[in-house]
Amino acid sequence: MSDLTKKNILIILTGGTISMKEKGSLGVVPSSELADFLREFPQLNNVANIDVLDYMNVPSPYITPEIMLELAKLIDLKIIDYDGVVITHGTDTLEETAFLCDLVLTTRKPVVFTAAMRSGSDIGLDGPRNLVGAVRVACHPESADKGVLVVMNDEIHTARDVTKFDTGKVDAFRSGDYGPLGSVDPDAIVYHRISLYRENVWTDKLDPRIDLIKAVAGMDGRYIQTSIATGAKAIVIEAFGRGNLPSRIVPDIKAALEKNILVVICSRTYTGRVLTEYGYEGGGKHLAEIGCLLAGDLKGIKVRLKLMALFGKYGDPDVVKRFFLQSRN
Ligand code: ASP
Repeated sequence: MSDLTKKNILIILTGGTISMKEKGSLGVVPSSELADFLREFPQLNNVANIDVLDYMNVPSPYITPEIMLELAKLIDLKIIDYDGVVITHGTDTLEETAFLCDLVLTTRKPVVFTAAMRSGSDIGLDGPRNLVGAVRVACHPESADKGVLVVMNDEIHTARDVTKFDTGKVDAFRSGDYGPLGSVDPDAIVYHRISLYRENVWTDKLDPRIDLIKAVAGMDGRYIQTSIATGAKAIVIEAFGRGNLPSRIVPDIKAALEKNILVVICSRTYTGRVLTEYGYEGGGKHLAEIGCLLAGDLKGIKVRLKLMALFGKYGDPDVVKRFFLQSRN
């Protein structure tokens, strides 16, 4: 029987290390024990009335944009009957799934992603602590209307800003220059700031034909040519610094633009915006002048998802371009 003094929270399991254990010579692999463990986990049941949906159990490198969108649709449906939803996910692609959900979901109720850096067989488990923290955040009234949140290592982050910065440490998730929104303290959930920038693309379709290319010193145009030849609708380029590229690939960029393929420039540098600063051939100012779009501070993997959502919704590159230009870039 549910306790009327507590909030009703649904935990949706998708897999990742939080659902894994070490099985001898097989290494760390998915295990089916998490759902039953959570249903009986006193620290969770003390906080909220918990339902657990054992939705899938995959390592997050297996997650695709299609799976992300299906998950968003599931959250959209399920959250009608709950006060909040918590999703467990592998850390490798968590920021992508959380961001896609942030773009497409319309709910104002808390939607909180969490994960673990350590598997169920490791010492110093972070998974149970992160889960309790995520459920406490999902229950907190100030968590409403903040977009999709990510709770890791006692910190609350926005889906837009958070990135996995470290391959192994429990404080792997950070929000670059901006920092977390708040803390999960033992006695309270404490919000320190709000994010002024949120963006939605309310679509029930994605267009997967968006490519992401990382700039490297001495690069040539082969990847851009391949994108053009294989039917890309948009090419995201993680350029250097403020959004600069070698002049050598400008002809390939122009070839894409002539075919009405959007070319969107973001930075491979960890924090900061791209902008129309450098006027040399291939500099950010020049790229904007020939028709490239600049993506502000949004990281390449998220720009790609945003374009998938925009092309899924509008189809027409000119409409997508207009939407993009009115974003706060
Ligand atoms: N490889 C794992 C995954 O993303 C890592 C993790 O969950 O921490 O599924």
